[in-house]
Amino acid sequence: MQRLIGAHTSIAGGLQNALYEGKRLGCTAVQIFTASPRQWQPTSVSTEQVAKLQQARRETGIECVVSHAAYLINLASPDADTRRKAYAAYLAELQRCAALGIRYAVVHMGSHPDFDTGMQTLIESLRQLLAEVPDGVCIAMETMAGQGNALCYRFEHFAQIYDALPDERLVICADSCHLFAAGYDLRTPETYEATWAAFDRLIGLSRLQVWHLNDSKKPLGSRVDRHEHIGEGELGLGAFRLLLNDPRFTRLPMLIETPNEERFAEDLAKLWGMVNE
Ligand SMILES: [Zn+2]
Ligand SMILES: [Zn+2]
Repeated sequence: MQRLIGAHTSIAGGLQNALYEGKRLGCTAVQIFTASPRQWQPTSVSTEQVAKLQQARRETGIECVVSHAAYLINLASPDADTRRKAYAAYLAELQRCAALGIRYAVVHMGSHPDFDTGMQTLIESLRQLLAEVPDGVCIAMETMAGQGNALCYRFEHFAQIYDALPDERLVICADSCHLFAAGYDLRTPETYEATWAAFDRLIGLSRLQVWHLNDSKKPLGSRVDRHEHIGEGELGLGAFRLLLNDPRFTRLPMLIETPNEERFAEDLAKLWGMVNE
């Protein structure tokens, strides 16, 4: 079985370049933006872009491509106009993914000054999206660090979404840095197992389908989202060794988003070195 380990690589010069860059860095999977993340106007992909990405898949052997929606998309925004724009932008993301043969469109869960109202707003946005999501594409909800008014940083918050929307096209993208900042300790075998027991009880492990592997600059429970290079933060190599060799996760794409892309190759080499160690 081929392990899917990679990075969020740049689409400068064309989407296909993210795969060639990934190959150079030692990736077997990549995460990309399918359009400029600063651009809000919904855009579609051309047949030429689709063909170039398919060619890059064949030439690099990197079949697994994950998308990350623009960071600023807030499907829970209290402002109706902002929310409509966010909705249109994410729906366009899902449609680009369908055209490009991308299964997972990772999205942040948004924020709201009133947590409960925010969760209800988010659930309504997701309910509408599920009516429009194209075949073959999943909404990958990212576990958040809990910074500011952010929603969905505890497993209970996702359980609330699944109670309202028990739909298999809603899946989880777990971010190791965010989990740790939100108070889930992955450093010792005991706390690691307790975390997954809670996840399984509240959400269900089969719903976890994408990983972001990032170390954390900030301590456990800080609720501050600051990524660090693998093994150089508060999580340390031990947590990554547990995650990489956990049979529950070995089939899932694992992607780094560490701060300096010039060090991606080094981070990836560390991860590959810990596989089956
Ligand atoms: Zn993210
Ligand atoms: Zn983050």
